[in-house]
Amino acid sequence: MRTRARTKLPKQGKGRGRRKRVPPDTPCPFCAQPALLFHQCRYCDFHICQQCAVDNDKIFSCNGITWDCPDCGKSNSV
Ligand SMILES: [Zn+2]
Ligand SMILES: [Zn+2]
Repeated sequence: MRTRARTKLPKQGKGRGRRKRVPPDTPCPFCAQPALLFHQCRYCDFHICQQCAVDNDKIFSCNGITWDCPDCGKSNSV
């Protein structure tokens, strides 16, 4: 008598929630406008909306590949 053990492995790799994303319609801390898309620092809670990222290119030095977080100073990849 053979009983097949049907062990279903829990699917992994589905939850890719590394870090809390800034939810949509959050007011941007710079322009106070709700934005859909934020650039968010991977290391701290700094976030900036895309328009402000373009407008404030002095604090938000983005060269197209990386940007430096003005809060913690670490560089993030886009
Ligand atoms: Zn903004
Ligand atoms: Zn940061």
